[in-house]
Parts: sequence; structure tokens; C-alpha cells
Amino acid sequence: MKPKIWLSSPHMGGTEQQYVNEAFETNWIAPLGPNVNGFEKDLELFLGNDSHVAALSSGTAGLHLGLVLLGVKAGDEVLCQSMTFSATANPITYVGATPIFVDSEKDTWNMSPVLLEEAIKDRIEKGNKPKAIIPVHLYGMPAKMGALKVISNHYKIPILEDAAEALGSSIDGRKCGTFGDISILSFNGNKIITTSGGGALVSQNEAIVKDARFLATQARDEAPHYQHSKIGYNYRMSNLCAGVGRGQMEVLPARIAKRREIFDKYFEKLGNKKGIQFLEEPYWYFSNRWLTTILIDPAEAGFSREDLRLALEKENIESRPLWKPMHMQPVFEQYPFYGDGTAEKLFQNGLCLPSGSNLESADLFRIFAVFDEVMR
Ligand SMILES: *Cc1c(COP(=O)(O)O)cnc(C)c1O
Repeated sequence: MKPKIWLSSPHMGGTEQQYVNEAFETNWIAPLGPNVNGFEKDLELFLGNDSHVAALSSGTAGLHLGLVLLGVKAGDEVLCQSMTFSATANPITYVGATPIFVDSEKDTWNMSPVLLEEAIKDRIEKGNKPKAIIPVHLYGMPAKMGALKVISNHYKIPILEDAAEALGSSIDGRKCGTFGDISILSFNGNKIITTSGGGALVSQNEAIVKDARFLATQARDEAPHYQHSKIGYNYRMSNLCAGVGRGQMEVLPARIAKRREIFDKYFEKLGNKKGIQFLEEPYWYFSNRWLTTILIDPAEAGFSREDLRLALEKENIESRPLWKPMHMQPVFEQYPFYGDGTAEKLFQNGLCLPSGSNLESADLFRIFAVFDEVMR
């Protein structure tokens, strides 16, 4: 069996281990310490725009805390992009709220501003004004944040920005992760950089980030004994993981450049093939190209998404259909959905291709050989 080619696997830069060793040498083996503080500073510097950052145990924890900090409670409604990973939607149920799913638009595959406004008007008419909006930057492509923010401001519904896949992406120079009233990042093993598992909550409002750190460390009041006046969580990032993160931040620009280069190579290979479509960057948009994705029109291409996926699998090459929309998932299908069929079509014809920054030319050669075979 030929060695496995992964969709996106961890890619260490080299200095991560030094930071981890430092943690051992100084006995900072805890969910706090110099690496946690250092990683937060690195992220604040990278994101700019007066961002404040709380490093957490996962991106999912960030979304959960974000909802708590926005005051979302049982019985409330939260507007959520349907085309996403389940981690975006699950925390809505953790606080007892109801997800209201919104379809995507065709330019970025992210939350449609038109359908969002339609959903808001209808929910208000039904007597339950939603408490938050969760857009996602899928596969690194920024959502239409300008239009979404206009709607958020008009209806006074805050944005919880899921930038888990979009560290390093930007619109007109402004980084993803700085658009929300609260934003979150993920450093899971498959993301553009990783801390093995981890996440962060970001806001330009320093008080919110202080509150996030407080809630993430069991909500301990100031007292010599353990005193609590709020429900807390154990969501802080480990100082060991943060050490990995500090090393990864040193190579983040190189990782983004490499992922974009991989996109360019796929585009060169397949860009002019009939029935194959890439997601191009709208003007002023910059995608970190976390994953390269294609849409295959089987009638035009002569083969389907599934034909290509199975042919790759036979060669021990991992590829994956696009996210199955949340409104089609058994666990979420009973919730309201405002859509026009866009996400369903994306799911039907879309495929994520191996895109890790550690892909070698020989790996791409193997992948391209399968393309040639299928397209023959
Ligand atoms: C990875 C991911 C998350 C969750 O992040 P974790 O750190 O794995 O909890 C949330 N939303 C999206 C869109 C993701 O891709």
C-alpha cells in the first residue's frame, strides 16, 4: 500500500519543542503560564485591529463561551450558517437555545446576507427576535462580512464570528477573526496551524476577553477560598499546547503561502477542464486556502464527485465531500431553515482535495495521476 496522503495534517515548524521543553524545565505544566500569555500576544499582534485574545482548550469552547458572553439563554434563537462543521451549531444547544439555519450564497459559499435578513424579519414577525448571528469563513474563504455587519447593526443582533478555518484570511486587509462582536479561532490538528487541540476567543472589547478568561477558569471570585457567583467552565488552554502554538506562529505566513501555492497548482491542472469549478477570491478578498475545494458538474465533466473521491481513495489518498449542511443532519433537521438550495448543491457536487502545507511534489504527482485516469 502506498503511504497515505492526508487532507490536512499537522506540520511542525521546528521551534515548537523548545517552547514545550521550556514549560517542562520551569514546571509550567498547567492551563496557564508563560506560553499561554506569549501565544495570546502573538495572536493579538498577528490579528491587529486592537484585538484581545483568550487562549482556550478548543474552538468549540470559544463558541460556547461566546454565546454565554452574548447573554444567549434557554429559549432564545440563534442564526447560524447551515453549510459548516457541526461544531459551529452544537454550542447553540449547550445553552438551551434554538438554531435557525441560513443558507449560503454562491460567491463565497458562506452565509447569504439576503437570506439572513429574510430569516430575521420572519423570526421577529413570529415573536422571537434572534440573539446572535454565527457566520463562518468556510475553507478559509471570508464570508461577506460587510453586508452581514450592516444587517447586524440595523437589527442590533451581535455577530459571533466562526473564523476556525480562516486564520490569515482577510477582506481589504482586515483579518478574519476581527469582524465579530466576538470571534473564535481553532488550532485543532487539521487546521492551518495547530496546538494539537486548542482554540481562542477574540474581541476588540477587552472586558469581554477578561470575562472569557474568568469563565474559562471556573469563574473564581477574588477570595482566598474558592468563591463563586457565576457558573464557570474548564476551558483554558494548556501551557504545553500553547508552546506548540508559539512555535507554529513563527511559521504561519509560510503555511498560508504554501496552502495558496497548492491551490494554484490544482488550478493550473484542472482550471480549464470542463465541468470543474474552483472557488475564486472576490475582489479585495484574501483566502488562506486552508483547503482547496472543487465543484464537479457530472453532466459536463463526465464523472461525478464520488467517482473522483473513490478513485483517490483506491490510491490511499484522502479527499472528502464538502460539509453536509446542518439543516440536512438528522440531529438538526427539525429546526427552521431559510434557504434556496445553494448549500445542498454544494454538498452534492463539492470535494475537498488534499491541501496540507506538508504535501510534497511527489504527493501532488500521485494525486494528478488519479485525475488523469478519471478524466481520460
Ligand atoms: C474546526 C472547526 C470548529 C471547532 O474547532 P475545535 O477547535 O475543533 O473545537 C468550529 N467551526 C469550524 C467551521 C471548524 O472548522
